[in-house]
Amino acid sequence: MKALIVEPSRMIRNVFSSLFSKNNIDSVAVETATEALALLEKEPVDFLCFSMQLRDMTGLEFYLQAKERGLIGQHPSVMLTGSQESVSAKAHSLGVTECFSKSEPAVFEDYVNRWAASTSTRLSGNVLLIEDSSLQAAFLEKLLDALGLKTTRSSSGEESLSLVSQRPFDLVLVDYVLEGTLTGLNVIRQIRTLPGRAGKIPILALSGFDDVPRRIEMLRSGANDFVLKPVVPEEFQVRVSNLIQLRKALDYLEEQHANLYEMAMRDRLTSVYNRHYINERAQALILESRNSRRPLSLIVLDIDHFKRINDTHGHAVGDSVLVAVASAIAETIGEAGIVARMGGEEFMAVLAGCDEFLATRLAEKLRETIEELDPSGLRVTASFGTAQLRPEDSYETLFSRADMAMYEAKRAGRNCVVSAEGT
Ligand code: GH3
Ligand code: MG
Ligand code: MG
Ligand code: MG
Repeated sequence: MKALIVEPSRMIRNVFSSLFSKNNIDSVAVETATEALALLEKEPVDFLCFSMQLRDMTGLEFYLQAKERGLIGQHPSVMLTGSQESVSAKAHSLGVTECFSKSEPAVFEDYVNRWAASTSTRLSGNVLLIEDSSLQAAFLEKLLDALGLKTTRSSSGEESLSLVSQRPFDLVLVDYVLEGTLTGLNVIRQIRTLPGRAGKIPILALSGFDDVPRRIEMLRSGANDFVLKPVVPEEFQVRVSNLIQLRKALDYLEEQHANLYEMAMRDRLTSVYNRHYINERAQALILESRNSRRPLSLIVLDIDHFKRINDTHGHAVGDSVLVAVASAIAETIGEAGIVARMGGEEFMAVLAGCDEFLATRLAEKLRETIEELDPSGLRVTASFGTAQLRPEDSYETLFSRADMAMYEAKRAGRNCVVSAEGT
């Protein structure tokens, strides 16, 4: 990565050189157009900036000569003008990328910083390259590798579709013409019908035909962008990099969304699920257990004389007891079910695949765990009710039987388990 500065003033040359070196970009600074042309003949550069007035010719004359000799590549060619000059329009029409006024060095500095950041960012990600010509594929893979991306190659539409559904790619590059019976267009359409993340993967379409209807069709079918073959390396890399960044932004949004969803489903104090979530999940699990003819049971529990803890030790201690009891319940239930705080000091566990016998045993284990917990140095106990799903049950009737069994446990003296089947 190298920049060439063509500028008559030594002071400005130094300022620009240090601007590039601050961005870890090597630069060479020369005074005249003749020197610059000689350097460009020897070696191409990645960034060219030249002053509007050089010692031996004007900046635009220099630029045109360089262009005529084929020395201007795909890199930015930037002209720096004096304060009052309005040559920008002419410069742009000749092909100069941008013009900046020397009187506003910060604007130029910002441009260089941005350019450096965009060219030096090493991306990370996995690209699926669907291309039937191995020569083309090798060339594109090199360009992707230079960006820091890992490439998986496929030459047929059929194979690539199974790859996309199996592995989490960040970008798909697909050529119009492929081996096998599927065209690039078919592949794009089919990817867009895939469920989840795979169906939303960014797609960059490639084609050797500069055929407008075909390009429109590829974009309409779900390609995010299009690039003509043979690709201009810099253009190809910028398009790839934009789409990879789009994928990262989407992943970030989805993660945020999942976090928010998770937050909405959790009880703020104890971090176990809340009543809203478990009511929804319980109904779904009841359906599943009916379909699979597997048992399902509930445990409802309520801390005994919790009001006394609050009254004697204060609300904050009460809170810490709730947190400790909730995490003990969640840990004891583990993979066997889902746990929620139904409100106050009442909790529930939904145990899919568990019959009343197992549920009662688990409740007994919970009872002992809580009794031995001594949160904040306090003796805490709870009363339990269990119930198993019956064919005629709705979620409400099942819950109500477990809840009634829990009240039965309170009446029986607290710190015990009552099964709805036994009542
Ligand atoms: P029982 O054995 O009959 O269940 O008696 P109890 O005292 O546990 O039941 P009661 O329903 O009379 O009191 C529950 C108390 O729980 C009253 C309420 O102030 C307290 N509580 C409810 N939510 C919270 C909370 O989030 N934090 C704290 N610290 N206390 C809470
Ligand atoms: Mg109560
Ligand atoms: Mg209570
Ligand atoms: Mg209660």
